[in-house]
Amino acid sequence: MLSQRNLALGRRRSSIRELFEYGRRRKAEIGEENVFDFSIGNPSVPTPEHVGSVMRRLIDECDPVQLHGYTSAAGDAGVRAAVADNLNRRFGGSVSPDLIYMTCGAAASLTITLSAIMCEGDEVIVLTPCFPEYRVFIESAGGRVVEVPCDGDLQPDIGAMAAALTDRTKAVIINSPNNPTGAVYTRERLEGLAELLGSRKNPIYLISDEPYRELTYGEAEVPFVPSFYRRTVICYSFSKSLSLPGERIGYICVSPEMDEARDLFDAVCGAGRSLGFVCAPSLLQRTVAECLDDTADINVYRRNRDRLYTALTDMGYSAVHPDGAFYLFLKALEDDAVAFCERAKRYELLLVPSDDFGCRGYARVSYCVTPEQIERALPAFEALYNEYESEKTK
Ligand code: PLP
Repeated sequence: MLSQRNLALGRRRSSIRELFEYGRRRKAEIGEENVFDFSIGNPSVPTPEHVGSVMRRLIDECDPVQLHGYTSAAGDAGVRAAVADNLNRRFGGSVSPDLIYMTCGAAASLTITLSAIMCEGDEVIVLTPCFPEYRVFIESAGGRVVEVPCDGDLQPDIGAMAAALTDRTKAVIINSPNNPTGAVYTRERLEGLAELLGSRKNPIYLISDEPYRELTYGEAEVPFVPSFYRRTVICYSFSKSLSLPGERIGYICVSPEMDEARDLFDAVCGAGRSLGFVCAPSLLQRTVAECLDDTADINVYRRNRDRLYTALTDMGYSAVHPDGAFYLFLKALEDDAVAFCERAKRYELLLVPSDDFGCRGYARVSYCVTPEQIERALPAFEALYNEYESEKTK
């Protein structure tokens, strides 16, 4: 008998993946340029040249036995020190290298962190709309998911959070800049959340999932959460900031401000060990350590966002203006977002229904695509809009 849970998970692809695979097939049928694939968050901007040159230099100049050998389970000591220094320089914290654990991206960071803290019957709050894999990660770690909707501006709703907290609440996961909405949570709202969590008798961890930290446009600030909530664990990834999603590299940072930081870090090491997530890829660890101040050219995303947001709202669509990440959360033109996205497919527009993210009535448009795809897709968006309009007048 196999694990029925894992069998079901393995057989049922996420609907984002499903749509992405549909897009692949459709492109083979009618040509790449005729399918407007806005399904997946795969960065379209190349990895910065510096990343490649560091990697080539490491390969050319380092002793290969060392370079490709195991590092410590938590990561290379020099790399962990570089990450801590970088965080302290940028955010004025007192992060210690001893509390940094190198991982294979944000998915591993989250899985390890959840496994490190979870006890039987614990609850983890997620703020919807949210990344669908949170449910998989939380339940795999033995926790129970509690969904709390954001407010109309897609910001954390402090009143709703207060009502959802119980003695079993072990953690809250936040993700800002946000997938799928592009919202950047304001400092005021995050401080309000921190105050609420800090007022509880039971210790609650704030897990800050930050793969989009560097992807903001305009004035939006992404506050450094450990500076105002001591029980913070940062789950970081270089997948989006350096356009390295396939290379699987990120880290966990346990805030030094909490009394139990050492114990929590030891539990992180234990969780990494029990899940088999030890010694993140060595070449990648050493590469990112030298590229901590680099970011892929996000001007491309900024231009895509501006073009798409302006064009779609001019047509009559409505969307909350996204300040970060590379997603636009579009109000569906009917209540049923699944039906809306199915209808969009007739125009070769591949959009993800918001039901997948724990909320109804919207579609996620990933604009990490070429500017040319956006230009080609605009007439299709317009035709879709007109179809709904013409039905209204019937
Ligand atoms: N968290 C969020 C909000 C994401 O959008 C993603 C990936 O898209 C992840 C975590 C996983 O990131 P990684 O590819 O680094 O594992």
